[in-house]
Amino acid sequence: KIRAMERITEMRNQLSDLNKELTILSQHDGLTKLYNRRTFEEKAEELWRQATRHQRALSVLLLDIDHFKLYNDCYGHPAGDACISQVSDVLARCLNRSTDLVGRYGGEEFIALLSDTNEQGAAHMCELVRSSIEALGIKHRDSSCSSVVTVSLGASVVNYTTGTDLKAQIGRADQALYESKANGRNCATIREFNPQSKVLVLDKRDDALEMIKKTLQGHCAVVTSTNADECVALAEEYFPEVILLHTKS
Ligand code: GH3
Ligand code: MG
Ligand code: MG
Repeated sequence: KIRAMERITEMRNQLSDLNKELTILSQHDGLTKLYNRRTFEEKAEELWRQATRHQRALSVLLLDIDHFKLYNDCYGHPAGDACISQVSDVLARCLNRSTDLVGRYGGEEFIALLSDTNEQGAAHMCELVRSSIEALGIKHRDSSCSSVVTVSLGASVVNYTTGTDLKAQIGRADQALYESKANGRNCATIREFNPQSKVLVLDKRDDALEMIKKTLQGHCAVVTSTNADECVALAEEYFPEVILLHTKS
């Protein structure tokens, strides 16, 4: 009986270890071992909520390898994979604070969310990452911007997260990345989100609120509510310049 019990305990431990392994596999990207996109987004939402609660600055960084299609065409897909892996190692090494969140966002695109990081901090980290990847010295014969593999970065910095959301700020980082590409690549563009005006919207219709939010995001800080009491509380806390009310059901 004792031996049977021991065997059961052993199997239970093995199962628990396997489950842990399975969780890690499902959360991480196989090639780079960074968080995959889905896990990054889940964890980033949680960090975003914490930053909002404590009114802390946050930066979203997007990184994309320059002329990577040409790299694959020139050196082959396995070499391309090795390059992605090296770039991701540098990224993980540079962004190593316990609160830094790094993920593989797409093929040769990476994303990071840095807590307590303002414009100056974001610019510093972008330059550290950019120069460290350039310093790897991975030959890229066909790149028009350098003789080695380089990356372009876009960052969106939010000093006050209320009135905007993670998705909108990833969108702004993407625009900044696009600017880096247009400016010749192998550089970083930092955009700060410091909305001039705050707008509070009360509407009972969720779809209307979503539409207003989508339209105004990026231009001003938008806080929405479907409930009149909550709206009054938000107005007291937030002092918006404009309040839009639609009280009919
Ligand atoms: P740009 O400088 O404008 O970013 O040019 P680009 O060629 O890097 O941009 P594009 O998005 O056109 O190409 C990305 C390439 O990345 C295309 C795709 O084949 C390659 N790629 C995506 N995922 C992987 C991967 O896991 N391994 C390898 N080897 N290549 C990949
Ligand atoms: Mg790309
Ligand atoms: Mg690219």
